[in-house]
Amino acid sequence: MRALLYSHDACLLHDNGAGHPERAERIPAAIAGVLGCGAEIERREAPVIDTESIYSVHDPAYVNSIEQACALGAQSLDADTAVVEASWEAALRSAGAGIAAVEALRAGEADFAFLAVRPPGHHALHSRAMGFCLFNNIAIAAEVLTASGESVAVLDWDVHHGNGTQEAFYAREDVLYVSLHQFPFYPGTGWVDEAGTGAGVGHTVNIPLPAGSGGDEIRLAVESIVEPVLREFAPGWLLVSAGYDGHAADPLAELQYEAGDFGWLGQRIVSQYPGRSILFLEGGYNTDAIEDSVQATLRGCGGEIFAPSSGSRSAGSTRMIQMAAESASRHWMGVQGG
Ligand SMILES: [Zn+2]
Repeated sequence: MRALLYSHDACLLHDNGAGHPERAERIPAAIAGVLGCGAEIERREAPVIDTESIYSVHDPAYVNSIEQACALGAQSLDADTAVVEASWEAALRSAGAGIAAVEALRAGEADFAFLAVRPPGHHALHSRAMGFCLFNNIAIAAEVLTASGESVAVLDWDVHHGNGTQEAFYAREDVLYVSLHQFPFYPGTGWVDEAGTGAGVGHTVNIPLPAGSGGDEIRLAVESIVEPVLREFAPGWLLVSAGYDGHAADPLAELQYEAGDFGWLGQRIVSQYPGRSILFLEGGYNTDAIEDSVQATLRGCGGEIFAPSSGSRSAGSTRMIQMAAESASRHWMGVQGG
């Protein structure tokens, strides 16, 4: 396995304020995880994106407002998202990393790319920052791919629902959005009946999981829903919103994933798409958990076999996954409903 690691020191200078969980230390933890995976890793600097490329996902007036807010120095954008002057470059490089990874993989330069960048992106809406996110890095990369006729599956295993990514592609049939997330939980969206609209009906697949869910639930959800849907959609590319806040040690959420569960996801799903898989760091707020989980993810991408953790099954989780399967079965023949 050959993998590319994109990051940049500018990502360390973005600052949400003292004591904020989305902090610079997350980046060296993720980098250590990638470099520790035992495979051949090439490190590259995340380049600055040109602002025009951001307009495929975000309102130009919104992009301009973020630039202005950063230029003014420390500013709060909402209850939990803030910027400083250096956040502008960090945001441009976080989004630019995705485009650079697309180009590198298209040129056959690696099998996988991992983007150790911040700010993260999957909560960023068309014209609104939220949930520590400024620009939707993964949605911008997906737009680059679909602009040249590729189909894209976005797999979002961050513990939070990626409401921004769902919004960006809700009416689209060329981008499949599949999310596993704690529910009910921030940001409040992601129930099973949010399945897309218009041409995009069925192309949003939400798999909510109650607090306490872990490896047993991942296995059930992947085997009964994620794998059959991916097989049927047969994406040209797989982009992963790789959040690590579902880890049992994470301070912000209540799922019970272990590092090996991310290894299992890497092997079971991501390794199936060599040469066309890009992993975007989203959440994850315990640095030890980030390092261990990123390392396991990459080892899984390289084909190492992991067993999902067991014993986690929480009250009601089987029923919730069944409801997600029932919803998906209306659009995907390979999913068994009811
Ligand atoms: Zn998250």
